[in-house]
Amino acid sequence: MAAIVMDGKALAAKIKEQVRLQVERMERKPGMAMVLVGENPAAQVYEAGKRRDCQQCGIYYETYRLPEDVPQPELLDVIRFLNEREGIDGILVQFPLPEHLDDRAVQLAIRPDKDVDCVHPSNVGDLTLGVDCFWPCTPAGVMRLLAEYSIDPAYKNCTMVGRSNIVGKPQAMLLLRRDCTVTVCHTRTPDLAAECRRADILITAAGHTGLITADMVKEGAVVIDVAVNRDDQGQLCGDVDYQAVARKASYITPVPGGVGPVTRAVLMENTLTAALRHGKGEIGGTERL
Ligand code: NAP
Repeated sequence: MAAIVMDGKALAAKIKEQVRLQVERMERKPGMAMVLVGENPAAQVYEAGKRRDCQQCGIYYETYRLPEDVPQPELLDVIRFLNEREGIDGILVQFPLPEHLDDRAVQLAIRPDKDVDCVHPSNVGDLTLGVDCFWPCTPAGVMRLLAEYSIDPAYKNCTMVGRSNIVGKPQAMLLLRRDCTVTVCHTRTPDLAAECRRADILITAAGHTGLITADMVKEGAVVIDVAVNRDDQGQLCGDVDYQAVARKASYITPVPGGVGPVTRAVLMENTLTAALRHGKGEIGGTERL
């Protein structure tokens, strides 16, 4: 039986329309700033996408482009400026930063109530503790996709391939919050195929084309491919051998058109949430959100 394709574009359009309708009613529009260091072409594409999303939702948007060799104090000054800047509710820094810059110092510098992608350690801590905070956009996007297709993670086994700070670890935390039983795999996992075969929900974010083949997937599993890779022909693809796995899974996300658009839509939603909280005078640490 062919899997149901989880349509991330349709869900993203729905989320963005909901944001747009709320923004339309607001006197002060939400604002987002993106900070880009260097000339990474992929980052430029993401930036253009975010600008377009903000335009569609009625969110004010600006980009701060800094040279590849920007000194750390200058970058931190930009963040501090944005922290204080009225009208900017969300700050998004494109990670990873060039080698000479300290990711952690930058993450710590972002005011937690403007940290719309959950990179500040206090927000990451709250996520782990189950306290209200912004959910990081990509794992939150996966949760939205599951909810959209009425897939309840409770009482299910999930295998998460990847343990990065931006996808695998927070994804595991969000699934735990929804009563899922989660196994997190990485390059030192002794038998990745066996871990994957146990999964009712298999999520992969390894960045490795062709990693997940049909023999690694349980009949009827939900397969979510977060990765964005290029195949031999230079086409975008994920980690999953899509055609073969789609014949075995019950649900599957395409790449592109799966998790990616929902990630971007969640960023719009988080920015709206930040603006609504700022409108109520809520600033500072997440404990006041
Ligand atoms: P990352 O920091 O490179 O992490 C990759 C993770 O996968 C690591 O934990 C690594 O294990 C694990 N891994 C790699 N190869 C593996 C293998 N053969 N077997 C088992 N585990 C393996 O990457 P990331 O930033 O999390 O991104 C992952 C992918 O998702 C990339 O393709 C990226 O482009 C994509 N992505 C998509 C979105 C979206 O919105 N759709 C957002 C963010 C990222 P170790 O820890 O042992 O090295």
